Amino acid sequence: MNAVMPTYGHPTVSFEKGEGAYLFDTEGRRYLDFAAGIAVNSLGHSHPHLVAALKDQAERLWHVSNLYNIPDQVRLAERLCGMSFADAVFFCNSGTEAMEGSVKAARRYHAANGSPEKWRSITLESSFHGRTLAMLSASKNPKHLDGFGDPADGFDIVPVHNMNALRDAITPETAAIVVEPIQGEGGLRPLEDAYLKELRAAADEFGLLLVFDEVQTGFGRTGRLFAHEWSGVTPDIMGCAKGIAGGFPCGAILATQAVADTMTAGTHGSTFGGNPLAMAVANATLDVLTGDGFLDTVLQSSAKLVAGLKDLAARYDTVLEDVRGKGLMLGMIVKAPHTNAALGEAAREQGLLTVVAGENVLRMLPPLVIGETEIAEALAAMDKACASLASADND
Ligand SMILES: *Cc1c(COP(=O)(O)O)cnc(C)c1O
Repeated sequence: MNAVMPTYGHPTVSFEKGEGAYLFDTEGRRYLDFAAGIAVNSLGHSHPHLVAALKDQAERLWHVSNLYNIPDQVRLAERLCGMSFADAVFFCNSGTEAMEGSVKAARRYHAANGSPEKWRSITLESSFHGRTLAMLSASKNPKHLDGFGDPADGFDIVPVHNMNALRDAITPETAAIVVEPIQGEGGLRPLEDAYLKELRAAADEFGLLLVFDEVQTGFGRTGRLFAHEWSGVTPDIMGCAKGIAGGFPCGAILATQAVADTMTAGTHGSTFGGNPLAMAVANATLDVLTGDGFLDTVLQSSAKLVAGLKDLAARYDTVLEDVRGKGLMLGMIVKAPHTNAALGEAAREQGLLTVVAGENVLRMLPPLVIGETEIAEALAAMDKACASLASADND
């Protein structure tokens, strides 16, 4: 036991150094990091461009608060708007803040347009939007809510890929539909393009706002800057965080002009949000993500990794059911009685780090900068991990 609150158990592995896709623990052991701090270290560890940006900013100015203009914040907002559906950006520090702020913005939009009764959001089963009281209530995962009282009102939950249920849930009080284009924590489940299109159509028909949670899927993770680009469907509001600043804490709410116009002075705020350090690193991250051919390389890496994992799924058909996901946001569906946790542990023993998700899925969320060597090494380690589980089948 130690003095850290036991919300994460008490993990035993400690890292002291990271380089590219590799982490080194305090015993000197090297790991291939296909967890990337849960889809955060998108450019790997110690990326020289990010290190330089952080060092340079650290020597000049850390924090001033939003009582003052922060030029790098304006610059990042303008760049993001130039690359997306959005016309304005609000900066915060985490994914759950980005999503809670997105829901606030959706409510505010209707109130400011004469419909204060429109304040409820329709959300999806097996979603994850973070751990504040409101965002827990948006997902209503019983495990996450246990012991925290009645869920906050204002969220109506419906099953994924069921348009009848969703349309039935729309009432005169509905303000927004809130979804992750690919459900991450819930089990790496991509929402079908046709479904996203129907969500957009329903939102337009009933005057609702469509809110995308791209906290995990955004910033190149799926091989496009934002995952919704695959479907051609654009939201009115989008929450981002995780990979946005390559490992420096940062979140953002992107919104259309119509929404931004209603978020007038004093309606929302953050002490740390958009501070100079976060903005310097986020701008530097965006330099790399938007570099010539960068996202094409992500797609090429994805194709190789998926082919290798599909091959493993075929060879170890008692361990793996299938592989799903997009870009470098991939999930291996583990076949019961085997568990994602056991496969993840077996992979860790082989020096490969992964992350579990719901529905017995083991996620691979490698840094976007991986190449042939890292992919081959990961597949070899996963091959051995699958073999160690499969050998138990014959006992
Ligand atoms: C991680 C995650 C969040 C919460 O982000 P935090 O930074 O942990 O608050 C919200 N939504 C999605 C889709 C996520 O993956």
